Amino acid sequence: MLLCAIADLVAPRRCCACDAVLPAGSSTWCAACETACEPAPPSALPPAPHAAVFQYGGAMAIALRRYKYAGRSELARPLGNLLAAAAPAYGDLVDAVVPVPPHPSRLRERGFDPVALLSAPLARALGVPHRLEALRRVRPTPPQAGLDARARAANVRGAFVAASKRPLPRAVLLVDDVRTTGATLAECTRVLRDAGVGSVYSVTLAMATGDSDDDARDAFAGNAASW
Ligand SMILES: [Zn+2]
Repeated sequence: MLLCAIADLVAPRRCCACDAVLPAGSSTWCAACETACEPAPPSALPPAPHAAVFQYGGAMAIALRRYKYAGRSELARPLGNLLAAAAPAYGDLVDAVVPVPPHPSRLRERGFDPVALLSAPLARALGVPHRLEALRRVRPTPPQAGLDARARAANVRGAFVAASKRPLPRAVLLVDDVRTTGATLAECTRVLRDAGVGSVYSVTLAMATGDSDDDARDAFAGNAASW
């Protein structure tokens, strides 16, 4: 506790969206940004089969853009903790956490794996293995922006393979940062099930819903070919 207090004095915690210095006890948002952060609709909350914790928009959209596209890797911890809060909903339902992987070229360019950093605290909270090697992205996927659902599905088809040399568990929790049409998660689910996984749940930190879908597309537009 004392060390935390000293750390806050040396490098005060800042809001993930607007960089305002946070008061003691806050770790993610300032008061203004917190009110601009909407939970996902009840039907999508964990452990729904295709779950999300928040809607994509407002402070969450800004924070995720900064995290993924502005190199703000230090946001992994507060954002990962928000995702890890979903752990109790899964109880004994899953045996491993599997993040949607980036293409190796994208990983080199960015220098960190944003989804794996987000999913690590969730795996720890669940007490299950974090199986980074379970999936591999073998093809960079062009931007999904402007594509309809069918085109998005075609865009990611064949982009992933099951890559683990070890047996895959019975039930997996697949993790991504944002869901728009769900095409990426559906393709990863198909690959995992073809590799013998019995149940695949998925959860994302945020989901694009109605009004926020354009925001999500904007966020992904203009970024490099794969993410
Ligand atoms: Zn803020």
